[in-house]
Amino acid sequence: MLPSPMAARPSPSCNRTASRAYREALLGLGLLAGMGLAPAHANTACPGNPNALGTSRTLVVDPMEHPRIGTMQYRETLPLKDHEVVLTFDDGPLPPHSTQVLQILASECVKATFFIIGRMAHQFPEGVRRVRAAGHTVATHSENHPLHFERMSPERIRQEIDDGIKHTAEALGDPSTVAPFFRVPGLRRGQVMEDYLVSKGIQSWSADFPADDWLHISSDQVYSRAISRIEAKGRGILLLHDIQARTVAALPRILQTLKARGYRIVHVVPATPDRPKTPTEPREWFIHPPAASVAMAHWPRVPKFLFVSTETLPGPALSDSDLHGGKLLALDRPRTSVEPLQTVAPFHAALNATNNQLALPVPSESIFARPEKAVAMSYGVSPVVRPVSHRLAPVASRPHSAPRAVRAENSPRLIPGSQPITQPNLAPSTILQR
Ligand SMILES: [Zn+2]
Repeated sequence: MLPSPMAARPSPSCNRTASRAYREALLGLGLLAGMGLAPAHANTACPGNPNALGTSRTLVVDPMEHPRIGTMQYRETLPLKDHEVVLTFDDGPLPPHSTQVLQILASECVKATFFIIGRMAHQFPEGVRRVRAAGHTVATHSENHPLHFERMSPERIRQEIDDGIKHTAEALGDPSTVAPFFRVPGLRRGQVMEDYLVSKGIQSWSADFPADDWLHISSDQVYSRAISRIEAKGRGILLLHDIQARTVAALPRILQTLKARGYRIVHVVPATPDRPKTPTEPREWFIHPPAASVAMAHWPRVPKFLFVSTETLPGPALSDSDLHGGKLLALDRPRTSVEPLQTVAPFHAALNATNNQLALPVPSESIFARPEKAVAMSYGVSPVVRPVSHRLAPVASRPHSAPRAVRAENSPRLIPGSQPITQPNLAPSTILQR
């Protein structure tokens, strides 16, 4: 029999044991759960289910400090310990599935976060009130769930976010009970949306692993994908949908397997003036926090690609080209006239028409002259010293129209990229013939 809450109420001189007894007594009456203050190891007192998974602890976060979480899209995620999982449900409320999800969670005494659609809240306000009454966190998921959020106008984005919060708050009758957490429909995040959320002090939630329960897959597949992805990362935010029958069918097995494998459920609530944030270290907000001495922490992230298809396409056949028997196909009809090519682009002609007076003078040829030594150096080979009698006159002093004298037998110019030959008994012509 549970002790009376009043008898166990701690006095100013009470010790920690009495305080814990008081909290457990409240828990047994379901009072703490409704306040979002479930203590650690709450599963020790889950009514009617001594083997319940339970909610191990409540994590209080400040949305302003960490405005974007969930490693599916962001660098940071919730500061969870190994084998800690946060449950989230999107798109509700929608009876009867949302109600069934609430019953399953209640049977295991676990708390979750529900991302409510404003239009659904307007249509089923009682469903939102049930979520709140059960002690879960009520967050929002836009007004109409548009799946092109990243391409919407800033006005439409703001409208979707604001209306979703407005209708959810109206269903609850108290705007302060709506958590400043938002998940964009389809995870179609964008800069405009995120900037607006930051300006309103709302935290953008992605996730760490989905279970694909919005796809046309079986509940067994939802279960196996959820568990395998949780196991792969070890901790994080699980994305589910409380409007899906396959999710309702898979959820009891997911919770039982998490319990059997030593996982713990964490309930997340926002910080308020009366509820300070849980103290954390910055590095706890990363799934794999890099050590300060690891240089790779400063390299840009490699994007994750999702390959829709991995099949290899066949190589092109000769018939795919215009070549037939090594020859191009003949034209259907002989070309009788040749259209003149347009040599001046339209914009160029317009430019000349208006800016003739800006034409630049012809450059002097002397500005292109370079000493021959510099030319040889630019090819990366050593300049060859030739007899004085065979040297050409300096470029700058020759008339531009004068033919250049080239004496192959006496002018051992090197081919660019070749190596100079140093044996004195080799004739220059031998070098050029190589
Ligand atoms: Zn959704």
